[in-house]
Amino acid sequence: MIPRLNLQSELTEKYATFLTELAKIPFAGEIRADYANRLNLSTDKSIYQIQPQGVVFPRTSDDLVHLLRLASQESYREITFSPRGGGTGTNGQSLSPGIIIDCSKYMKHILEMNLEEGWVRVQPGVILDQLNSYLQPHGVFFAPSVAPSSRATLGGMINTDACGKGSRIYGRTSDHLLELTWILVDGTLARSRPIKIDTLTELKQDSGRLGNIYRQVDEIVSSKPELIEQTFPKMPRFMTGYNLGKVYTPTRDNFALNRIIAGSEGTLAIITEAKLKLTKIPDYQKLVAIHYSFFDDALSAAENLLALKPSAIETIDDKILALARGDEIYYRVREFIGDAKAINLVEFAGDNLSQLETKVNQLISNLESQQATGYYLAQNEQESLNLWELRQKGVGLLGNRPGNRKPIAFIEDTAVSPSCLFSYIREFKALLNEYQLDYAMYGHVDVGCVHVRPTLDLKVPEDETIIRQLSDKVVALVKKYGGVMWGEHGKGFRSEYTPVFFGEELYQDLRKIKAAFDPDNRLNPGKIVTPYNSEEKIVAIESPLRGHFDRQVNLAMQSEYEVAFSCNGNGMCFNFNPDSVMCPSYKGMNNRIHSPKGRASLLREWLRQLTVSKVENLEKSASFPVKVWNTLSQAFGAYDYSEEVYQGMHGCLACKACATQCPIHVDIPNLKAKFLNLYYTRYLRSPRDYLIGNSERLACWQSYLSSLNNTVVQNSVIRWCIKQFFGLVDPPLVSTSTVRQGLASRVAPEFNLEKLSSLSKKEKANSIILLQDAFTSFYESSIVLDIYDFLTQLGYKVYVPHFFSSGKPLQVLGFLKEFSSIAPKNTKFFKQLRDLNIPIVGIEPSITLSYRDEYIEILNFSESLPKVQLLQEFLVTQLQRLPSIDTCQTYYLLGHCTEKTLALASVQQWQQVFQAMGLSLKPISTGCCGMAGIYGHQVEHDRSSQDIYQLSWGQHLPLISEERQYYLATGYSCRSQVQRLEGWKPLHPIQVLAGISQVKK
Ligand SMILES: Cc1cc2nc3c(=O)[nH]c(=O)nc-3n(C[C@H](O)[C@H](O)[C@H](O)COP(=O)(O)OP(=O)(O)OC[C@H]3O[C@@H](n4cnc5c(N)ncnc54)[C@H](O)[C@@H]3O)c2cc1C
Ligand code: SF4
Ligand code: SF4
Repeated sequence: MIPRLNLQSELTEKYATFLTELAKIPFAGEIRADYANRLNLSTDKSIYQIQPQGVVFPRTSDDLVHLLRLASQESYREITFSPRGGGTGTNGQSLSPGIIIDCSKYMKHILEMNLEEGWVRVQPGVILDQLNSYLQPHGVFFAPSVAPSSRATLGGMINTDACGKGSRIYGRTSDHLLELTWILVDGTLARSRPIKIDTLTELKQDSGRLGNIYRQVDEIVSSKPELIEQTFPKMPRFMTGYNLGKVYTPTRDNFALNRIIAGSEGTLAIITEAKLKLTKIPDYQKLVAIHYSFFDDALSAAENLLALKPSAIETIDDKILALARGDEIYYRVREFIGDAKAINLVEFAGDNLSQLETKVNQLISNLESQQATGYYLAQNEQESLNLWELRQKGVGLLGNRPGNRKPIAFIEDTAVSPSCLFSYIREFKALLNEYQLDYAMYGHVDVGCVHVRPTLDLKVPEDETIIRQLSDKVVALVKKYGGVMWGEHGKGFRSEYTPVFFGEELYQDLRKIKAAFDPDNRLNPGKIVTPYNSEEKIVAIESPLRGHFDRQVNLAMQSEYEVAFSCNGNGMCFNFNPDSVMCPSYKGMNNRIHSPKGRASLLREWLRQLTVSKVENLEKSASFPVKVWNTLSQAFGAYDYSEEVYQGMHGCLACKACATQCPIHVDIPNLKAKFLNLYYTRYLRSPRDYLIGNSERLACWQSYLSSLNNTVVQNSVIRWCIKQFFGLVDPPLVSTSTVRQGLASRVAPEFNLEKLSSLSKKEKANSIILLQDAFTSFYESSIVLDIYDFLTQLGYKVYVPHFFSSGKPLQVLGFLKEFSSIAPKNTKFFKQLRDLNIPIVGIEPSITLSYRDEYIEILNFSESLPKVQLLQEFLVTQLQRLPSIDTCQTYYLLGHCTEKTLALASVQQWQQVFQAMGLSLKPISTGCCGMAGIYGHQVEHDRSSQDIYQLSWGQHLPLISEERQYYLATGYSCRSQVQRLEGWKPLHPIQVLAGISQVKK
């Protein structure tokens, strides 16, 4: 039995009192001091792990004013704060042991847009993709980009002065700031915009802290322009963090304090609003993927490519390309990258098409002389998007490398002048080879910034020492080439190198600026600089690493739960796009604990605490009385960290999106099942678990008394009882006519293994085995019969074995013992089917795909199972048999999450089948429908299930009833969710095909 776990670090009294007092003042945001929330924000995309004392989620800038005014009271002077956005920082910028102010949860509104004047006003938690999809219909965009644009916030971008692809043309975030609203640590609210000298003079007269800030900054930048000019490299990627070089415009008639605040990593003030400059979207874009045999050839080609003035050149090396070949993205780009060992993505953008085409032609005609081995010119926007997604996924994919050593970000964004990039990288590689480190490279060759991530295992102390040694050496190398250490991702825990690049004099000036804004070092302390004259220390590279915690977990658990340790925090699972499949529980609950990253973090800590507790024999279940006692103790308030993990896991819909969409394939449902299996060695399960776990068999029994069952289930008193006693809402009705009856009336051939094995080769070629599943057979039996009819019309003999439970609901709920007895039994049957050499087809995607996924896992990868095909996987191989129907009707397909993510071609296969029959089928991009088997029926998830539905499905289905017949859904859960929330049910694609071909006959 697992022990009770309470090894968490306690809150100090000071912080506990502060958070209690905060709850009493008009602070409308959320205040969290529970372990799960603190743990959740103790990591970002960096190698560090720092446990904060508390977390607050402000809703408005007033909340921040109230918070900081309270904090200015003398008794709270030692309390520190770190603002946070999307948490995609690669150097621990938003991590701190104080209070995290997370602006990404509620302060994410686009406040105002003025197209005539070309600006938009946003709150800091707005995500870059969210902003750009809002702006796109107006023909404008926010030009600076970051690879994690689906989750990085404007607040974070401003504070790291972010930039990415296209920065040579569009510059950095600070180049697009018209006005910032911010709050000082004492609660003073201020606004800054570029100002004329006379306004500056006026502002400097102010006797308060604001006046001091303007005086201090002006004094520094006005008194030593030459030193600043010499210190700041003249490169596309200039230095971030108090950018002294750009406070005055070159003509020195405009003063911009925002240049100091941008890139200040939350050390000076908290941004509450930003007015941003808009840029017109170029009318045309052309993207060419140039292929090379060697990465060096791609690098050395960059300078020549630059002559054509492309808007971006991004490079990807052989290691990332090799990893991409094992990812779902490969399916979408394989024809564009061929067998290249390195590629340069060269983009041209502008409003003059013929000019762009001329440049592309020039580029293509010169390729041979530049060691290129081939190229692909993207034919449309979707192809370009797919190629850019390959580039964006690069970092994530790297984390998927086999072995314990994983690519680590600590020297990942150095920048030198593009003209010396090739020689610089040669020396860089030599340095890495000295340590015999494996690494991959990609990045922005047009601006001399290449991302390098050596692989290390930070659970191993020896590997940890390499970080310091290599960092020091890389700093020296970058200095030699006149570059910068932080070309893109900011300083964070690398702040100690600031004096090396700024020089001692300017370094002390930076400290004076910090002192003017935050004299007591309370905002993100230790990052960039400490205040002038303060004794406080800057953070060191050797700060607490995630590896320090991970290495405490015993090796057997590290291996058993390996993917939880592989999660590298890249945050792709925080994708804001409601129409992306990733991750519905995070989107529905607006809580990062309920994301794959959140759950993987909870689990790692759980494994650590289990290891530290030294209890053995965890899998042995407690006796019933002990479980009763444990469950009651917990109900009466005995703290157990396992309960926090349980809550995090319980919110997972088991949609499986993370298993494929996460570049590391962090398969949470699988981890969740293992967790629940152990959790219930200590606690009692609810009766509902047993009911749902056995729902397949139960549905079979219900079908024998379908009318009676449905009458009972529709009774409002019974429904109330089901809700109260079992926690279930909207129980589905079983089909009144059964598959058994339907097959009997059709005189379907009997399924008999012996008879089937005696069929001739020709007979077998015209036979199919159609597997039943509980969902379609007992709740939508007509679909099984439609499939039967359709396949029969195609000339097949369709054999339908008796129904058997797949065990999937048991697996989802962590009844692993029970599941591991069902899976081998079914596997034995599948093997007998395989010997028949007859195609096996399943119907419901989640069940069919479990034979390729959960079955393989529970059988410990020891078995090779025959492939149970999805219906469309089979039909797409039989296109010549399909009848042709002439109709101009277009149908729309909303795919099932598991199917879209585990069987990547599934949607296109339906399209091919429809096309072969002369029908048009358009896929609609949607997220999860919110039902996911049992999730939507659980009373505690009813609200979030409906919210998830409304985010995406609810936006795409037609309001006009005549149009509904053209909307098709492949999943039983999805169809029943639409029925439950809209009162009508989309058809399964086969119902359309069977219906039409019937008419045709
Ligand atoms: C896979 C990957 C690729 C990346 N590629 C790029 C890239 O192409 N270009 C690039 O520039 N960066 C890149 N980064 C780094 C990172 O995405 C950027 O630094 C981004 O700007 C951080 O935004 P965020 O919202 O995640 O901020 P966070 O990481 O949460 O915070 C970043 C900093 O901003 C501060 N901050 C956040 N909100 C506020 C606020 N309201 N007020 C004051 N301070 C605040 C924080 O204290 C912290 O110091 C990449 C990161 C990853 C994981
Ligand atoms: S779960 Fe996957 S996508 Fe999410 S942060 Fe971890 S590695 Fe990235
Ligand atoms: S299975 Fe779905 S809901 Fe659960 S963590 Fe993965 S993506 Fe999120």
